[in-house]
Amino acid sequence: EQAEIGLIGLGVMGANLSLNIAEKGNKIAVLNRTVERTDKFMKEAGDLKSQIIPCHTIEEFVAAIRPPRPIIIMIKAGEPVDQQIAQLQPYLEAGDIMIDAGNANFRDTMARFDRLKGTGLTFIGMGVSGGEEGARHGPSIMVGGAEDSWKRVEKVLTSIAAKYKGEPCVAWLGENGAGHFVKTIHNGIEYADMQMIAEIYGILRDGLGKTAPEMSAIFGEWNKGRLNSYLIEITEKVLSTADPVTGKPIVDMILDKAGQKGTGKWSVIEAQNMGVPATAIEAAVAARSLSAAKDQREAAEAIFGKAPVTFPIAYGTELLNDLELALFAAKIGAYAQGFAVMAEASREFGWSLPMPTIARIWRAGCIIRSQFLDEITTAFTANPDAANLIVTPAFSAMVKESIPSLRRVVAAALSAGLPVPALASALTYFDAYRQGRGTANLIQAQRDFFGAHGFDRIDGVDQHHGPWGSGVGAA
Ligand code: NDP
Repeated sequence: EQAEIGLIGLGVMGANLSLNIAEKGNKIAVLNRTVERTDKFMKEAGDLKSQIIPCHTIEEFVAAIRPPRPIIIMIKAGEPVDQQIAQLQPYLEAGDIMIDAGNANFRDTMARFDRLKGTGLTFIGMGVSGGEEGARHGPSIMVGGAEDSWKRVEKVLTSIAAKYKGEPCVAWLGENGAGHFVKTIHNGIEYADMQMIAEIYGILRDGLGKTAPEMSAIFGEWNKGRLNSYLIEITEKVLSTADPVTGKPIVDMILDKAGQKGTGKWSVIEAQNMGVPATAIEAAVAARSLSAAKDQREAAEAIFGKAPVTFPIAYGTELLNDLELALFAAKIGAYAQGFAVMAEASREFGWSLPMPTIARIWRAGCIIRSQFLDEITTAFTANPDAANLIVTPAFSAMVKESIPSLRRVVAAALSAGLPVPALASALTYFDAYRQGRGTANLIQAQRDFFGAHGFDRIDGVDQHHGPWGSGVGAA
């Protein structure tokens, strides 16, 4: 019996995804560059072995799969993917589908589509979220490519995807780079979500002197309410975990330097390319970069000292409530920005990205999964063409309720010298977004003054350059 699908790359993600595919009753052929890894994988596959065909060469692998062959490539992103495609290509036949499931830059995915045009081979760029656990038991899967390629793999992918109240978290989102683009924005939002939680943690730790176990209890409480989400849940768990070496909370023993692999940065670059503000995501990416410059931060602390002022709000139920609502308000801002970036990309790249569907497939399986995404699904289903999430009726009500808390918390953190770049960005974004008359009239005047760039008038009068230097009141 031939395999229904093939997978190359038995690293963390590929191995778990293969086991998931096999477990759901799909026969799968697997291949890995280093053959020892394939053998080790088979030894650990247990009862699922009968569903898996281990292969040591591309010839064996291709022969083992039922045509047209869907082949998932789950290897290190970038150059290795191009090498892998080049190696596979001579062995494949018209209609076969290569599926890049790694964290590719969607521009690379678009280029791969173009290169494969006219070869008869097809391609899918597939974003997979949920880490190791998700890959094994149900990830969120974002598919981009030709719709008929999707039809060939729909059954297998639906069987392995996470389920939210029975609904599978997988969908075809559009042509070529759509899936990888949406995955990139998912990760950008994830950066913002994590950074905002870390900023609230900073207020609790440095502003209010809370210990890790105390903070764990607070996040645990919040996880029962409107912030209920995977990231809040793991924050609770992280904060209550002890270090096996010292017995202290492990979070206190971890170096404060965050890593990043690029997807957050790509979100921001693409947002800037399209002229869509994604300031909360940008703040989160920048915060990770600054975190990495630990030596510089320590040197600066030696010069300037620690945060200058104690947190100006006394600790109590009211403050806890404010912190919870502040995090919620800021989170709305970050998601609103992420969805606005996707809406613009959809126009720019002609994808027709389905916003309610994107929110729907993020409700389970992925890192940003939450109850909140169910509310976003509802809001976009009712208002598919909303210019921004925050102006939908459901979310504008939530924003009105929660913004005063965000304002109090950010103001207090700023006056205490505690850095809250993502929370503050979300607040300022809101303040600027709802300002009917902003301050860009002055920018336009300056641009016209030094560069004769011209401006439009509020009264429609046909006069587009200023009489600069002639004095107020002069003609
Ligand atoms: P691992 O480091 O665990 O595994 C890497 C795999 O890539 C190995 O199978 C390795 O083969 C293979 N590989 C590396 N270079 C080449 C090459 N030049 N040719 C062929 N194979 C190669 O990676 P992960 O499983 O963590 O990640 C795989 C992809 O999934 C990446 O794009 C990653 O960004 C993405 N991803 C990861 C997530 C995670 O939580 N880890 C979540 C979502 C996506 P070999 O055994 O021979 O070295």
